Amino acid sequence: MSAIADVLVVGGGPSGLAAAIAGRMAGLSVTLVEPHVGVLDKACGEGLLPHGLEALADLGVTGLSGVPLVGVRYRVAGRPETWAEADFPGQGALGVRRTSLHAALLARAEALGVRFVRDRVVLSRQDDASVRVASAGGGGAHRGRYLVAADGLRSGIRSALGLDLPPRRPPRFGVRRHFRRVPWTGRVEVTFAPGAEAYVTPVAHDMVGVALLFEEPAPFEVLLARFPELADRLDGAEPTSRARGAGPFEQRVRARVAGRVLLVGDAAGYLDPLTGEGVALGLATSALAVDCIARGEPEAYEARHRALTRRGEALTSALLAVARRPLLHGALVRSARALPWAFEAALATLSGARSARGHRDAEAPPPEGLALARAKGGVLVEATRELRAALSARPARS
Ligand SMILES: Cc1cc2nc3c(=O)[nH]c(=O)nc-3n(C[C@H](O)[C@H](O)[C@H](O)COP(=O)(O)OP(=O)(O)OC[C@H]3O[C@@H](n4cnc5c(N)ncnc54)[C@H](O)[C@@H]3O)c2cc1C
Repeated sequence: MSAIADVLVVGGGPSGLAAAIAGRMAGLSVTLVEPHVGVLDKACGEGLLPHGLEALADLGVTGLSGVPLVGVRYRVAGRPETWAEADFPGQGALGVRRTSLHAALLARAEALGVRFVRDRVVLSRQDDASVRVASAGGGGAHRGRYLVAADGLRSGIRSALGLDLPPRRPPRFGVRRHFRRVPWTGRVEVTFAPGAEAYVTPVAHDMVGVALLFEEPAPFEVLLARFPELADRLDGAEPTSRARGAGPFEQRVRARVAGRVLLVGDAAGYLDPLTGEGVALGLATSALAVDCIARGEPEAYEARHRALTRRGEALTSALLAVARRPLLHGALVRSARALPWAFEAALATLSGARSARGHRDAEAPPPEGLALARAKGGVLVEATRELRAALSARPARS
C-alpha cells in the first residue's frame, strides 16, 4: 500500500478533480483514484452557470473553450408563440463541451502535483486516523486521512456507508447528443413537452448540444420527434457525437459526512438536471468539503452543504413539479414572460447561492433579482396563483 495522503479522492469527474485541486491549493497531499485515464466525456447539458465559472477561476482553471451564454429561453413544444427569456446575472454562463471542461481541470490538477491512481475502488474501512479503500479488482489498497467521495450519481462509497435513501419521485432519465449546426441563439433553450424536455446549448460556433430529459425511455430520435420545432432546426444537421444516457436521477442521502468520509458532487445526492447546475454545484461542494477538512472540521460539512444547496434544491423541486404536469407548461412560460424579473430572480438564485464561496453567500443578502421579487411579492403571488392552484389540484402525470 502506498503512503497515506491527506485527502484521498475517489472519482475523477469535475467534482473529484475540483476537490483534488482545492486540496493541493490548501497545501494538502492528494491522491485521486479513477478507473478511466485521460479526458472523459459524459452525458451533460454542458451549460456552466455563472458561479461555476467563478469557482473554476478560484481554482485557477484556465483554457476552457466554449460559447458565452447570456440567459435561458423557455418554450412549449408545438406552440412557437409561447416563449419567455431571462438573462443570467453578471458575466453570464458558458456552453462548454464536457471534454474541454475535463481537460482544463485535469491539466490544473496535474500541474499542482495531484497523484493519480488508475483503479476502481470499494470502501474498505475507516478508523480514528484514516480511511482505506481497496481495489475492486482485488489489487492494492489506498489510504487517506480523509476520503472525498466524488464517485457520481450511483456512488458506491455512499452505498457502502449505508447513506442511500429510497427515491420519492418516479424515475427520470437523460440523453444528450451533439449536432453540427450554427447556434440560432445565445441562450440555453429549454422546451417543455409532455413527459420530456429538450435543452439546447450552443457549445461551439458551429455546434449545439441537445440534452433530452424524460420519464419513459425511448430512442433519441423518437424523443426528439416530440419537439417539432427543434426537430425542424436539426433536420439535416450532422450528429457529431453518439447519444449518451444517464439516470435515473433522483438520489436521496441520509447524510453527507460519515466519520472521515465526505460526499461531494452528484455522490452527495441529486434531484434532476433540469436547472443545469450540477457541475457548478459539484465544484462548490468539493471546495467546501476541502475547506472543512483543511480546518479540521469535517463534521461542519453537513450543515454547510445544506446551507449552500437548499434554495436551489427548492427551486429545482418546484420546476420539476411543473415539468411533470404538461397542463402547467404554458402557464409557467406565460408567467415567466409576464414577470421577467421573477424569472431572472430564479436564475440569480441558482447562480448566486451556490458558488464555491457559497457558505458565505448563503448567509449573505439575497441576490438583487430575488430582493426585487420579494419587493414585488404581491404581484408574484398574483401571477403564480394559476400555477399553484393547478399544482395542488392535479396529481402528477406518472
Ligand atoms: C442529461 C444531463 C444533462 C445535464 N446538464 C447539465 C448542465 O447543463 N449543466 C450542469 O452543470 N450539469 C448538468 N448535468 C449534471 C452534471 O453532468 C453532473 O452534475 C456532473 O457530471 C457531476 O459531476 P461529478 O464529478 O460529481 O460526477 P461524475 O461526472 O459522474 O464523475 C464521477 C466519477 O467517479 C468515477 N467513479 C465511479 N465509481 C468509482 C469507483 N468505484 N472508484 C473510482 N472512481 C469511480 C467515475 O468513473 C466518474 O469519472 C447534466 C446531467 C445529465 C445526465
